[in-house]
Amino acid sequence: MDSVILKPGKDKAVRNRHHWIFSGAVQTLPDFENGSLLAVRSATGDILGHAYFNRASSIIGRMVSFGKTPPEDAIRQSLERAVSLRRRFFDPAVTSAYRLVNAEGDVLPGLIADIYGDVLVLQVATLGMDKLKPFVLDLLVTGLKPRSVYEKSDLPARREEGLADFEGTLHGEPVDRVRILEEGLPFLVDIVHSQKTGFYLDQREMRKLARDFARGRRVLNAFSYTGAFSVYALKGGAVRADSVDSSESAIALAQENFELNGLPADAGVFFTADVFQFLRDPALDYDFIILDPPAFAKRKTDVVQACRGYKDINRLAIQKVRPQGLVMTFSCSHFVDEKLFQQVVFQAAGEAGRRVRIIQRHRQALDHPVNIFHPETEYLKGFLLYVD
Ligand code: SAH
Repeated sequence: MDSVILKPGKDKAVRNRHHWIFSGAVQTLPDFENGSLLAVRSATGDILGHAYFNRASSIIGRMVSFGKTPPEDAIRQSLERAVSLRRRFFDPAVTSAYRLVNAEGDVLPGLIADIYGDVLVLQVATLGMDKLKPFVLDLLVTGLKPRSVYEKSDLPARREEGLADFEGTLHGEPVDRVRILEEGLPFLVDIVHSQKTGFYLDQREMRKLARDFARGRRVLNAFSYTGAFSVYALKGGAVRADSVDSSESAIALAQENFELNGLPADAGVFFTADVFQFLRDPALDYDFIILDPPAFAKRKTDVVQACRGYKDINRLAIQKVRPQGLVMTFSCSHFVDEKLFQQVVFQAAGEAGRRVRIIQRHRQALDHPVNIFHPETEYLKGFLLYVD
């Protein structure tokens, strides 16, 4: 296999098992077709591993194997390790939906694979992974025997890779909606017309926490999507759980999820509305407000604007929540780290003029592992605030 040679002193990140190679680190490139797997060597000729390369991307190479292991063997092992981690922590009779492969978090750059019962949903972010797709699909189908594999590759990152969006069934019968279990609770997931791959799996542990803190409280689930936090809160003994989302189809599915969980029609009101407006209503009367907005900062250059948005909703929620109330607040923007997010909440609390204490800190669920050698896989953070 042809080799890419890194510049002297530019091999440290790869030796430390970081996946990304920037073009500035490359000394020589062989002739290659974008998306190809190539060997990666240090300036002194040591083999560092294998990566797929794409000249069109600012991250020119992404390592799929380290050391001498052939790349196909490494991919097979990474998939096996990803499956083994999930099998250890999930009993499908209790939780049948989880992220099976979390890209670099599972040493498989460019690949997301989510399990919804017997349906597998893939997201491919890079040209290199797109070329490996037949190989990966074959391993997944042989190993897991899913009823259906659907690809939902609508990621903005594909543009930089020179890839168009792609959606469609890759294997088995076409699917649309799937019924899953999460912590024993049934939910409908609309695979085809959904956001992400269908369900915000990364918030599972926070939904459990919301359930644990909901007893006796009037809950507002802001940015509710298909109502999962509301269902958990009611199962945890909330007096009421209202859901607000700007997406009509998400709210419609939230109503179906209430029915599926045997919750009465008066358990909560559903609002198709803009949360920024909704929180300004002077009549709000909640003692537990959940704020789980989409990523306001999709790029580094969005951070200042994003922080304004985060501050706005947090200030309003902290102002409006009843005394001895709770605000559970999240940011899933990678570019807003926990320290910055805490600063934003600090400013919001100051402006709201309330006494605020952090009583819990949150991270993405365990099926979204952060690779210690590649910390960029970390994105979700949150606080549970107690407001006197
Ligand atoms: N908490 C949810 C996931 C929330 S995802 C869960 O556990 O499943 C973010 C949601 O915010 C999306 O459903 C999106 O439709 C909604 N959204 C985005 N901007 C909004 C706005 N300004 N007002 C209301 N909802 C918004």
